[in-house]
Amino acid sequence: MSATPARLVVIGAGLAGLATALSASRAGHDVVVVERDAMPALRDGDEAFTHWARPSVPQWRLVHNLSARVRELLLAEAPDVLDLLRADGIEEVNPIEALLPPELRRPEDAALTGLVCRRPAFELALRRALEHDGKVRLLVGKVHALGLTPGATPVVNGVLLADGTRLDADLVVDAAGRRTPVPQWLREAGADLRTDSEPCELIYYSRYFRAAPDRRPDYLGMPRGDLGHLHYWTFVGDHRTYGAVFGVPTWDHELRELRHGASWDALAAEIPALAAWTGRFDGTPLHEPQVMANNHNTRHHYVVGDRPLVRGLVAVGDALSTTNPMRAWGIAMALTHAFAVAPALASDDGVELAHHRAVEAQNRLIHEISAVTDRLRRYRWRGLPVPPADAAAAEEESLLSHGVLPFLGEQPEFLRAVLRSMALIDPPDALFHDPAVVERAREARARGVAAASPGPDRARTLELVATALRETA
Ligand SMILES: Cc1cc2nc3c(=O)[nH]c(=O)nc-3n(C[C@H](O)[C@H](O)[C@H](O)COP(=O)(O)OP(=O)(O)OC[C@H]3O[C@@H](n4cnc5c(N)ncnc54)[C@H](O)[C@@H]3O)c2cc1C
Repeated sequence: MSATPARLVVIGAGLAGLATALSASRAGHDVVVVERDAMPALRDGDEAFTHWARPSVPQWRLVHNLSARVRELLLAEAPDVLDLLRADGIEEVNPIEALLPPELRRPEDAALTGLVCRRPAFELALRRALEHDGKVRLLVGKVHALGLTPGATPVVNGVLLADGTRLDADLVVDAAGRRTPVPQWLREAGADLRTDSEPCELIYYSRYFRAAPDRRPDYLGMPRGDLGHLHYWTFVGDHRTYGAVFGVPTWDHELRELRHGASWDALAAEIPALAAWTGRFDGTPLHEPQVMANNHNTRHHYVVGDRPLVRGLVAVGDALSTTNPMRAWGIAMALTHAFAVAPALASDDGVELAHHRAVEAQNRLIHEISAVTDRLRRYRWRGLPVPPADAAAAEEESLLSHGVLPFLGEQPEFLRAVLRSMALIDPPDALFHDPAVVERAREARARGVAAASPGPDRARTLELVATALRETA
């Protein structure tokens, strides 16, 4: 495909689909987006959270953190989306500026500025940018099948909607999210697509709250912890919201009672760091705990070596790859994939191969890191030995947990390195390729620190859950 305008059909108006449409339409291509959920007019990001039903996006109201990489990508590719977010009251916060005195800051720390935002507000801003441009057709409808010529390398030439409409395309973009039906349709048409998928083995129980009118949720010092039988993270959102999530192993059926508000609250109140942090905001819950199961580290392989297995189609966002949600890498990668489509359309290598080359190395790395971290947690929580294949990753994790994270307050270099890799400003393993950081981390680990008690053990957690459920029965 060349730089001449192409007809694109994008399946799905989630984050990846909207971002693809925005950048491809601005590059001069003719874009139609088909979305199966309704896209109502909304006042602001808060109303998007409270009033926009998104039955096809199961994580819609679960906690999200937008990494600094998301903001960097928008600055480079679509700064007007940042303006729309600002107009909606979304704050930008730089943790280095907040934590380090001026003499210890560096110019490159500006890249660590993040957006304090829930997912619905972010998606609304992307949609509004498209609507302001007025170049892209947003259709509500369900893509039911691909128009294609079957064969060992199927050639996709459009989509069929459930109402019988056919849309022809030079390129179909699969942005249908983690439950995309497209790989299965392509296999049925003859493509030999491989999918790697490893379960995260976690179910998430997430809850957002709104702070009291005179309180402001505190972006800094957000606690997180591993209780040895579950772990938790905290989040700050737009419009005075904040949230927390428990990640519970799939094999622990008794802990599934955390789906009830009363048991969720009882556990949250007994984790000292979490209770102290949330206690400052005096908030009220916005909903009952939201549950997300079936979390996987997944990668679909559309190109093998230099050979695309399908012509006329690229996948972006979760439809191409997913990692453990608590890595908070999904949105940054969705935008990375999306913004790579328009340049790939201009490549002489063909859009499928050019897009693959633009995203593959990052996809592979984050998939491997997310998957091995999930395996290491399983060994730890189940008391299993670490197999030799994962020993190097276990050593890195030990260094991070015992030599780096406890010392962030006293070692600015650790703080900077951790923030940069968490936010994907640097590759997520960059920390372990810096000999100075590794050496200091080894020394720090050898010195050791007394670990504060993170919270109740499993027996106490079950007791709390049972009592809470009895009292509300
Ligand atoms: C519990 C949880 C927490 C997360 N937290 C974070 C976080 O903190 N930070 C982060 O960066 N990422 C996070 N993620 C990941 C993030 O949500 C995803 O990476 C992101 O939503 C991917 O966007 P997407 O556009 O690829 O897919 P989606 O947002 O799922 O969008 C897919 C779209 O396709 C539409 N669609 C599907 N099928 C069809 C069809 N047949 N026809 C028409 N339309 C269709 C759907 O309706 C939907 O609108 C989290 C994920 C989970 C599960």
